[in-house]
Amino acid sequence: MQAAIYVRVSTDDQVRHGFSLAEQKAACRNRAAALGASVITEFADEGISGSTMDRPGLTALRSAVRNNQVDLLVVRDPDRLSRKLSHQLLLTEEFEKAGVKIEFLDFDWKDTPEGRLFYSVRGAIAEYEREKIRDRMVRGKDQKARQGGVPIGFYNYGYNYTPDSGKVTVNDSEAPVVINIFNWFVYEDIGMNGVARRLNEMGIPTRKGKGKWHRNVIRQILRNPVYVGFWRYKEFSIQVPDIVNGETWNKAQEKLKEARRLWAGLSKNEYLLSGLISCSECGNTMTGVYTNWWDKRERRYTCHKNSQGAKSRGCVPAKFLPAEVIENAVWEQVQVWLNDPDTLAKEAVSEEPREEELRQELDRIEEHLKGVEKGRNSILDTLALGLVELDTNTKNKLTDLKRRKERLENRKKELEAVLSEAYRYISGLEELRLISRQILSKLNSLDFSDKKALIRTLVSQVIIAGRGQPGRNGLKDTQVTIVAKLPEQIDSSVFSDIVR
Ligand SMILES: [Zn+2]
Repeated sequence: MQAAIYVRVSTDDQVRHGFSLAEQKAACRNRAAALGASVITEFADEGISGSTMDRPGLTALRSAVRNNQVDLLVVRDPDRLSRKLSHQLLLTEEFEKAGVKIEFLDFDWKDTPEGRLFYSVRGAIAEYEREKIRDRMVRGKDQKARQGGVPIGFYNYGYNYTPDSGKVTVNDSEAPVVINIFNWFVYEDIGMNGVARRLNEMGIPTRKGKGKWHRNVIRQILRNPVYVGFWRYKEFSIQVPDIVNGETWNKAQEKLKEARRLWAGLSKNEYLLSGLISCSECGNTMTGVYTNWWDKRERRYTCHKNSQGAKSRGCVPAKFLPAEVIENAVWEQVQVWLNDPDTLAKEAVSEEPREEELRQELDRIEEHLKGVEKGRNSILDTLALGLVELDTNTKNKLTDLKRRKERLENRKKELEAVLSEAYRYISGLEELRLISRQILSKLNSLDFSDKKALIRTLVSQVIIAGRGQPGRNGLKDTQVTIVAKLPEQIDSSVFSDIVR
């Protein structure tokens, strides 16, 4: 490695600080050697002010740097190069651009006001340079896009992408998943949550390989025109291979729009989930409020309680979540359940009633009861005929039989209650199976109170966890838990109104 050292002393320095040229040289040589220099060339200016750039030693150093004769430059401090900050910056930049590593000796120097200024300005310049490079790269991408090529950063599920060539091809294992997502959403009415759930149940890996499919990812896929062959990059559109046919894609867009329109007509006093929705952090029920959000008036749900009598004032700061996003999530879940009432039943009860077992136990109990009754009657008969005395033994027998009879009758009542619950459950589910299709077909024409009633029929509560900031497309970091309700509690009058 070729090293250079540069030393400078003005007459002033020597007088004021008492350091000599010889001392500077020795210190710089030692450092250069310690850093592994094999050749060390000296450049020196003695008795010349550092405010001028016109110094023989400095000029010689700069020309050596230009001729690639320097890998490492050791200087006591930036002040040796120049008295002026602008010159220091200029020279260090010039040297570094030529590939020279610059080493300053004095650590103390960094703690002086001049030193701090030098380093902070150099830091700012480095940052500025990085910005400029970034800017240039972005403009480079735009340029590529404008010319119809595919710029860097094409990462869409369903495609392979080679960054070096910008080549985009269809990924054979992911593309069928994309087609399924569109078909299920458009032709099966299972909603974005339903699509995500089905993919998770099928064990289809996400792009990242781990983690679950989420409705937001499904939405991004459904909205992305890349799947009909147009990749949107800023204001440009670039052609890529398509995966989904245009008709299906258009239908998906229509459906997405429909979902957005669903609540558009709701007035400021209409909240589909009032009474059902609560905050998991503070435990308060959440109420609907019509409030300013930026420059827009919006329906929201909040856990904040204004009234004096409230047990808890709610979270601090209070949650204010957009009503529409939560209502959409619940509505989608309702659609999923209507599509497959058995999933609702499974979610609502941990255990299905075992009707057959219950019935068998009831039969056994009735049998026992008959036996007990028979025994009791025969004792009473013999007593009545005066054949035996009512002694202690007989008394005890009778009391015992009476107790057994009571126990059995209680158990019988219990079983009958459970059985009638089971019948209601089974007939409720049966009813739901019969009419869910009809409800689904009329879903979009339901008015507010029908929608509200339908939600209350299938949902027992909605719990909001986390306080994610509402984004444009949903709630980041907010979890909406929708708890299913037992179909046995179906109020058939609600459905008869809807189905009619
Ligand atoms: Zn809260």
